[in-house]
Amino acid sequence: MNSATPADLVLTGARIHTVDPGLPEAEALAVRDGRIVWLGAAADATAYTGPATRVVDAGGRLVLPGFIDAHNHVRLGSDDACAQLAGARTLDAVHTRIADWRTAHPDAPWIEAEAFDYSALPGGRMPTAADLDPVTGGTPAFVLSYDVHTAWLNTAALHRLGITRDRTDLPFGRAVTDPRTGEPTGFIRDFAVKGLSREGHRALRDLGVPWASPDRQYGRLAKSLDDAVGYGITTVVEPQNSLDDLALFRRARAEGRLRSRLVAALFHPRGTTEADLDAFEEAARRHADDRLRVGPLKLYIDDVVEPRTAALLEPYAGCAHHRGDTFYPPEEFAGLLTRLDARGFQCFVHATGDRGIRTVLDAVARAQAVNGPRDARHQIVHVE
Ligand SMILES: [Zn+2]
Repeated sequence: MNSATPADLVLTGARIHTVDPGLPEAEALAVRDGRIVWLGAAADATAYTGPATRVVDAGGRLVLPGFIDAHNHVRLGSDDACAQLAGARTLDAVHTRIADWRTAHPDAPWIEAEAFDYSALPGGRMPTAADLDPVTGGTPAFVLSYDVHTAWLNTAALHRLGITRDRTDLPFGRAVTDPRTGEPTGFIRDFAVKGLSREGHRALRDLGVPWASPDRQYGRLAKSLDDAVGYGITTVVEPQNSLDDLALFRRARAEGRLRSRLVAALFHPRGTTEADLDAFEEAARRHADDRLRVGPLKLYIDDVVEPRTAALLEPYAGCAHHRGDTFYPPEEFAGLLTRLDARGFQCFVHATGDRGIRTVLDAVARAQAVNGPRDARHQIVHVE
C-alpha cells in the first residue's frame, strides 16, 4: 500500500461488517472530514496514519454501519419527570407505581405518568377517573397510554382542564362520556391526532399541564436523542411534528445534542389548508442539510385497536355494529392524497385497522393513476 493522505481517525483491530458484497469484512478503517475514506486489512492502515491521526484499537469488537430508524418518536416517552407505568399489568400495580411516585414527589402540583397498558384494566374496559382517584386524591393526574393515543385523567384533572358533560370536544382530544349519566369518564380518546397537534399542545401548555411545557418537551427529546446515538442509530425519522416543534430540534442542534441525523415529518391534521402546505414547504426549504431535514407529511386514516378507534371491515368482537371510523370518507382521502402527491410530498399515513389500511392503499393507487408513478415512497405506519 502506498502512502495516502493521513486520516483524522484510524480504527484498527475491529470486526467490521461492511454490508458491501465486494468487501464484506474488514479489520480497519480510516475517516477523514467525517467520512469513511478507506476500509481494509489492519496491516495496510499505517498508510493512513500520520502524526495527527487519532488511532483507536477496537480490541476485536464488532463494527456495523449506522442504523437508520425510519420511525422513532424521539419527542415522546423517556420522560424522567413522569411516573413510569411500563410493565404494570394490573390496576393494583398501576396504583402502587403512582403511590410510590407520590411518596417521592410529595409537593408535585400534578401527578403525571406515561405508558399505561390498556390491558391493565379488568374485563377489557377502558380506564376511568374513579380508577385513579383513590391514589391521587385532590391532585390532578394526567396519565398517557403506552401508544400516546389516549389520556387518562382523575376527577381533579377533569375540573382543572374544564371538561364537563357539555364540553367533551377538546383541542387535545375527545372526552368519553358515561352512556347512562352523560358525565365525562376521565378517558380521553384521539389524543394522538389532537393532543399531539400544534393546537392541542398549546392548549395543554396554557392550561398548566407540566408535560406540555417547552422545557419538558426538550428534556424528552434530548434524552431520546442520546439513547438513539447510544444504540448506534445515526439517522432518526421523527414521524409527527408541528412547526412549533422544529424549534426543539434547532435548540438540540445548537446545544450539541443532535448527534444523529434527524428527518422530521410534519403533522397534517384534517383541515390543513393550502397556506399550511405553503408553510410546510417553506420549513422544508429552511431545514434541508445533512443533519436536519424537514419534509414528509404525517396523516391519520384511523386510530388504534384497543379503544376501538381503528377502522375495521367487520365489527369489533363483542360489538353488534361498531367497526370504528376513518377520519376521512374514502373518496375525500383519495382526493387529498392525490393532491399532496401532485405537490411532491411524501406521505406517512397511520393506519391500523384493515378498513383503514384498505382506504390508504386505494388512495395511493388513485394518486399513482392520476399523477403517474414517481419515487414517492409513501408509507403506511403502525400497520396492525
Ligand atoms: Zn408512530
